Amino acid sequence: MTNQNRCSVPGFDEPPHPVLIRGGRCWIAEAGRPPRFAEALLLREGRIAAVGSDEEVRSHPSAAGAEVVELQGQTVLPGLTDAHAHALYTAQNRNTLDLSDCASLEEALGRIRRAAESAPRDHWIHGTGFNEASWPESRVPTRQDLDPLGISQPVLLTRSCVHVRVGNGEALRQAGLPHGPEATGVLKENDAGPLVHAYNRWVRESGAEEQALEEQLLAWASCGVTEIHTCGAEDVGVSENLLAYQKLRSRGHLPLRVLLYSDQEPSLGMASGFGDPWLRYGGFKFFLDGSLGGRTAALSAPYADDPATCGQLCWEDAPLFKQARELHARGIQLQVHTIGDAALDQMIRLLEDLRRAGPHPLGFRHRVNHAMFCRDDQMERLAELDPVLDIQPAFVPSDLPMLEDRVGRDRLPWSYRWADFVRRGFVVTGSSDSPVEPFSPFRGLWAALTRTTLPGLPEGGFQPQQKLTLDEALGLFTHGPAEAAGERRGRLIPGWAADVAVCDRDLFSSSPEEIRGARASALFVGGHRIL
Ligand SMILES: [Zn+2]
Repeated sequence: MTNQNRCSVPGFDEPPHPVLIRGGRCWIAEAGRPPRFAEALLLREGRIAAVGSDEEVRSHPSAAGAEVVELQGQTVLPGLTDAHAHALYTAQNRNTLDLSDCASLEEALGRIRRAAESAPRDHWIHGTGFNEASWPESRVPTRQDLDPLGISQPVLLTRSCVHVRVGNGEALRQAGLPHGPEATGVLKENDAGPLVHAYNRWVRESGAEEQALEEQLLAWASCGVTEIHTCGAEDVGVSENLLAYQKLRSRGHLPLRVLLYSDQEPSLGMASGFGDPWLRYGGFKFFLDGSLGGRTAALSAPYADDPATCGQLCWEDAPLFKQARELHARGIQLQVHTIGDAALDQMIRLLEDLRRAGPHPLGFRHRVNHAMFCRDDQMERLAELDPVLDIQPAFVPSDLPMLEDRVGRDRLPWSYRWADFVRRGFVVTGSSDSPVEPFSPFRGLWAALTRTTLPGLPEGGFQPQQKLTLDEALGLFTHGPAEAAGERRGRLIPGWAADVAVCDRDLFSSSPEEIRGARASALFVGGHRIL
């Protein structure tokens, strides 16, 4: 990694120097007031010290001696939050060589050879996503294909299904597996264990994972993100790990705030919010159903393109309610994966049961993650229960091509009801679910404004009455997530956290397509300058 890709938060635990930002359009987002702009902003000791006209802010006693950031009309936002992503998993994918679009075995082998040429000698080469079904050779690569490439590094290939792995001779040797000339290196299911463990050991011990994580977090930061709500789902192989962030934190290399959710129960009485302002425990992740693409999302009536199935719920009510009640009583916030309307029915029953159990000991609202379908009757009951709704605007451009096939025309109005959610007064957050969708929140803003595919279809947007205004869409990535996590950030208000993203353009005079391509030109987290 070059120095350019390293972040350093100087004097990490010391108060940062005061900063005066002027010449931009600061989007204040004060609660209960129409959105308005300020001319200048003063950051001091990790908090916003003043916001207002240029004259007001410059006459603040702390403004003298502050570092001045001069802008020319660019939008200044509260630091953005990606309220649901898989950050470590996204980072791990940075280290792999994508073979999913290779048209032949020959092309895949060429790509592996070139990757090895530019990688250090002790690095593993991990090729992922290959699928021989689409290759003219229509066979899985073997060690006999790999070794003649003359690669000195260990090579691991993982098929798109993740159930078949291939190692070259060096990888088999390092994994302690038979590696005589007759070994094909093709290993299935548990037989591949030693190979995968050898690779994982290298990833951990070489520091490759930590580097990739830092690079990935910096990539988020370059899109204006100052906090990520990351989520581990060990049951489906998506790991999260406080230690990885803690190591970055201890070396002053954690560039943004991290709130970590997991499907594993915490111990030691750890409750939601435990940690420090940079790294905290978020809560427990439940899955109520699967995905629309796989027809495993639980619907109340059969799929339009497969009348034999309604998808399926992962839980019976009784064990779900029991575990959820225990976690609720322990002060843990629940984040609950809920896609289909039958899953939302169960979520509503769960929220009603938790309400009977008594208020959350730490005052957290529970989170309905995805909330992709919502019938009118469900909207009314949800409004009474007042959970957080975690939506992913960037799902719409990806899901539109299959949506009507899956659910038919009649159920379309129940899907992606963003404007209804926001205008009913729910706490709504926006997120990428990275690596499911690209991680830039500016892409999420574009999707919330347009509700179209990348080529702009359907014209005028899908269910256009559910499009958000820019003010509403920005709320999903600023004060929405902050409120969900119980934090005083996400608005440019004196006394609130000095998390500030300076955009590279004025969003309010940009087209949605221009907004999609926006980046941060400067970024402050707790007043520390990250970019
Ligand atoms: Zn997710």
